[in-house]
Amino acid sequence: MRASDFIHPDDAAALERLRNIPALPSVMKKVFELGYDQIMWSENVTTNLRLGPSQVPEVYNLLPPICRQLGIPVPELYLNMNPLPNSWTSGQDRVYIVITLGLVRRCSDEEIKAALAHECGHIICNHVLYNTLAEAIYSFGDTLMESLIGQAINIVIMKGIRQALNAWQRASELSADRVACMVTSAGTLVRTLAKIERIPCFILQNLNFDAWAAQGEDYELLKNGSAWSKIVRYMANSDMDHPYTPVRVYEAMKWEKSKACVMLKNGLKLIVNGQICPVCGNPLTQGWQFCKKCGAKLQ
Ligand SMILES: [Zn+2]
Ligand SMILES: [Zn+2]
Repeated sequence: MRASDFIHPDDAAALERLRNIPALPSVMKKVFELGYDQIMWSENVTTNLRLGPSQVPEVYNLLPPICRQLGIPVPELYLNMNPLPNSWTSGQDRVYIVITLGLVRRCSDEEIKAALAHECGHIICNHVLYNTLAEAIYSFGDTLMESLIGQAINIVIMKGIRQALNAWQRASELSADRVACMVTSAGTLVRTLAKIERIPCFILQNLNFDAWAAQGEDYELLKNGSAWSKIVRYMANSDMDHPYTPVRVYEAMKWEKSKACVMLKNGLKLIVNGQICPVCGNPLTQGWQFCKKCGAKLQ
């Protein structure tokens, strides 16, 4: 699966705006020169538990089949002991997914798969690059970044970069959610989101997903409203790095009904049934160990 197959239009547009900021390449160069990526990785490997076939296999084993379906190498998977449900992806050179104990405790296997597929969506879209930049800017703060990068980049430019990154991060979540919908379903993703939002079981049991989505749609309609509505929407949004959950619910349910999603989902089914190659899409014949077109190892 390629990012261009499913990228959300807001993600593509925000990425374009981000790439058009003239100071961005020098800021990125500096962040990677400072070794921020390695700092994050060493913090991760010293704090979290690396899962594998012989370490909490009941959770780890959910990941490789998703990666096979999506045609990506299996990233490292770590368990963070935070009691709140959450997941994230990091590591530009050595990509890894982290899920929290709260997610494992509160979610069913299908819901954990939705969270993992969402993270794999970030990997396919190469979101990790700009995410690392956003995290670095957030951790160092504007003033420190300014002194690290030099006088040429002042606080006003940094604020612009930070806001463009926030806008892009919000939109990038919608692309990653689309992958979760395809590997599991919009309903499963919505239940996972509800648990990440810490909605208690007694409400979740009878939660009306359509009404929740309508709430997100109402907010999205501000996009098409008057100039003032657009300002309200911008002000509510500009410092957030994740979109509002009702918007994610609305977008996920809309995407699941789209032609593009149905077609991609059918393709994934053919991969699961061993009928086409997960890497190149070539039709396969039973008994093949490797794809005869691209050489990918088949399971
Ligand atoms: Zn995400
Ligand atoms: Zn192939």
